[in-house]
Amino acid sequence: MPGVPDSELRPTTARPLRVAVIGAGPAGIYAAEALAGQDDVPVAVDLIDRLPTPFGLVRHGIAPDHLKMRALRETLHRTLDDERVRFVGNVEIGSDLTLEELRRHVDAVVYTYGAAGDRRLGIEGEELPGSLAATDVVAWYCGHPDADRPLVEAAVARARDVVVIGVGNVALDVARVLSRSPGELATTDMPQHVLDALAAAPVGRVTVLGRRGPAQATFTTQELRELDTLTDATVLVDPADLELDPAAEEAMGRLVARNLAVLRGWTGHVGSPGRVSLRLRFHARPVRLLGRDRVTGVEVERTTVDADGRATGTGEFEVLPADLVVRSVGYRGHPLPGLPVDERSGTVPNEGGRVLRAGTVSPGEYVAGWIKRGPTGVVGTNKHDARETVAGLLADAAAGRLQPGGDVDDLVDSLVARGAEPVLLADWRAIDAAEVALGATRGRPRTTLHERAALLAAVRTAVTGSARPR
Ligand code: NAP
Repeated sequence: MPGVPDSELRPTTARPLRVAVIGAGPAGIYAAEALAGQDDVPVAVDLIDRLPTPFGLVRHGIAPDHLKMRALRETLHRTLDDERVRFVGNVEIGSDLTLEELRRHVDAVVYTYGAAGDRRLGIEGEELPGSLAATDVVAWYCGHPDADRPLVEAAVARARDVVVIGVGNVALDVARVLSRSPGELATTDMPQHVLDALAAAPVGRVTVLGRRGPAQATFTTQELRELDTLTDATVLVDPADLELDPAAEEAMGRLVARNLAVLRGWTGHVGSPGRVSLRLRFHARPVRLLGRDRVTGVEVERTTVDADGRATGTGEFEVLPADLVVRSVGYRGHPLPGLPVDERSGTVPNEGGRVLRAGTVSPGEYVAGWIKRGPTGVVGTNKHDARETVAGLLADAAAGRLQPGGDVDDLVDSLVARGAEPVLLADWRAIDAAEVALGATRGRPRTTLHERAALLAAVRTAVTGSARPR
C-alpha cells in the first residue's frame, strides 16, 4: 500500500491473526469455519452479532415448519464450539462499538450481516395498514426480538383474504405458514403467542401473485410441491396462467420444466368449504393497493411475457379482495455506520469479497453472504461464497497486505468496560437450555424466546452470582 512501510503492514507472527466477523448467520459462521479450518495461519476469530443468539436467518428466516432445514443449526454449532472461534453476541457495531474502534482490535474484518431490509413495490397504497413486508411477517413468526408484534398481529387477526406478492421461496413460506392448521405447527419452535394468533386467524383464501409467468418464478420445486401436502388447504392453479408459447416451452430449463409439471398437476383441483384455498396466480402485476383506512384489495393488471422474460401490461385490470397483503419481493442490505453500501444493489461494493472504498480495495476489510452478492441462493450458497472471501483474506495476510490492529485490550474486556453486555458461547448455551425447557413445559422440543429481555434473563439466571454474563 502506498505510503505505509511494509513492516507496519505485516501482522506479528507471535500472535494469531485476529479477525472479527460481523454477523453470526450462515455466511458469518461459514467464514469463521473457513478461517478456523485451515492450518497455515493460526487464527482467533470473534464472531459478533447484534442479537444475543447466533444463526441469523437459520433461526429467524428459515420457516419454523421446515424442521429439517432448521436442524442445520447443529452443523453450524460445530464452528461455534471451535476454540479458535469466539461467539460475541448482543453487540451492535455502530452503537456498542464503532467500526473504527473494532478495527483497532483486529487485523481484518469480514462483514456478513446480511440483508435485513425489504425491497419496496413503489405503488400506491403500499403503506396502508394491513400491507406488510414479508420481512415483518417472517420476523414475527420466527420470534425475532425486533419483530413488530402489534403491527403483524392486528393484520393477521383479520386476515380472511390474503394476497402474497412475489413468487419466490419466501412468498411460499409465508403462504404455507398462514395456510397451515394449528396441529401442523404444534411441533415447531414458534413462540406461543404466534401459534395462538395463527390458530385464531380467519384465513380462508391465500393468493400468491407472480407478475410474470410460471417460467420466471424463483421458487424451487421442493418448496412448491410441499404446498400440496397441507392438511387443511387446497392448491389451485388456473390452466390459462400456465400456457407457454412453443418457443418458450422449448427453451425452458430443467427447474422450470419440473415446476411446470407440478403446477399442471394441480389445474384440476377444486376448493372445498372449510379448507383454505391456496391459489397461485401468474401474469398478474400489482398496480396499486386499495383501501381508505386499511387495505381492502389489490388491483392487478394482466401481463404477457416476451422472449427475454420481460412483462408487458395488457390493459386488463382486476381487483382481488385482500384484508392482508404481504409484499414478498426480496430483501435489501443496509449500510453499517462507517461502511459504504451501493444504493441500487443494497450490497457492499467488493471485488471477490475484498471491500472497495471509492473504487479501491480497502486493506483488511472483507464481505461475504447476502451483503456481498445480494439476497439470492440457499443457505449452502454462502459456504462457497465465504470460502472465496476467506481465501482472499488469507492471501492478503500472507502477502502482508493487512493493516494489523494494535495490541489493545481484549475485545470482550473492552466491551464490558464500556458497559456492554456481550453474550458468549456459555451464555448462548444457557439461552438454548432455557428454550428447550420452555418447550418441554408445552410438550414441544423447543419454544423460541422472542424478547431480548427474556434472552438476557436466561443468561443471568444461569450465572447468578457472576458480575456479568459469561
Ligand atoms: P426472490 O426469489 O428474489 O423472489 C422475489 C419475488 O418478488 C420474485 O417473484 C419477483 O418477481 C417478485 N418481485 C420483485 N419485485 C416485484 C414487484 N415490483 N412486483 C411484483 N413482484 C415483484 O426472493 P425471496 O423469495 O425473498 O428469497 C430470497 C432468497 O432466499 C432466494 O434465493 C430464496 O431461494 C432463498 N430462500 C430459500 C428458501 C428455501 O430454500 N426453502 C426459503 C426462503 C428463501 P420477478 O422475478 O418478476 O422480479
